[in-house]
Amino acid sequence: MTDVQAILDSIHADLLPRLGEGKVADYIPELAKVDVRQFGMAITTVDGRVYRVGDAEMSFSIQSISKVFMLTLALGKIGEQLWKRVGREPSGSAFNSIVQLEQEAGIPRNPFINAGAIAVTDVVLSGHAPKEVIGEFLRFMRYLADDESILIDDRVARSEAQTGFRNFALTNFMRAYHNIENPVEHVLGVYFHQCALAMSCSQLSKAGLYLAARGSNPVTGHSVVSPKRARRINALMLMCGHYDGSGDFAYHVGLPGKSGVGGGILAIAPGVASIAVWSPGLNKVGNSQLGAVALEMLAARTGWSVFGD
Ligand code: GLU
Repeated sequence: MTDVQAILDSIHADLLPRLGEGKVADYIPELAKVDVRQFGMAITTVDGRVYRVGDAEMSFSIQSISKVFMLTLALGKIGEQLWKRVGREPSGSAFNSIVQLEQEAGIPRNPFINAGAIAVTDVVLSGHAPKEVIGEFLRFMRYLADDESILIDDRVARSEAQTGFRNFALTNFMRAYHNIENPVEHVLGVYFHQCALAMSCSQLSKAGLYLAARGSNPVTGHSVVSPKRARRINALMLMCGHYDGSGDFAYHVGLPGKSGVGGGILAIAPGVASIAVWSPGLNKVGNSQLGAVALEMLAARTGWSVFGD
């Protein structure tokens, strides 16, 4: 039997001397205020046990991790039609890159780079007011984590709305190719709010459990997606969840994962557990530096990599 708590404690102890590594995202002014020396980790296993270490109960901005959950909603709304609007290939370029959009007629490479996620949000928005979709997203996250206390941090949403010029550029660019159906400011209003969701590692690991457990949350009994859809979302996370650091993450960790510039990573060990780690210092490609190291240690010490132990 793997002693998960002992492994988490050993990872925390090994990383303590390294706390502070990496650089907080400063292109969103509210995120630049976060103390870089924080570290938390939580694991929820498919049999409902929760293990925690460090700042596992501190809320942080989930940022791009929200893209996994908005994708889940979009697939629920229009199913496989979604793939007419966004691809499924690793991007090989930065999270906020515009280059590939021009080469591929406004169709983003995958749903986890900014352009792709914004197109996914546009799909969910069509037929609704932005406020309704923000509410729907928040309710969905509370349902997944079985926690009514989850909130959106409006200051972060506003901070990004004031400075998100690249995201406006990406969205306008896609709109020129008719790959955005709604007014640009509405789409980004929803996108900035979904990114500004504040969650702790404990809450996030619970919210991701359906991806580890064939589409249903075994603790709450909530059915979220089919087993096939859960498998496919995991495939996308493995190939595209860390921008142009996705290959490196697969090489070192070997788990489907999605990072965010708030310093969080959600990783899935299919059939075993949902794992959330948070450390706000980022590496060069915008993924949590120590978060990735912690997950590499976890995979090595548990044998949970999807590629075997
Ligand atoms: N809200 C961020 C942006 O669009 C998300 C990026 C990320 O977490 O990687 O720039």
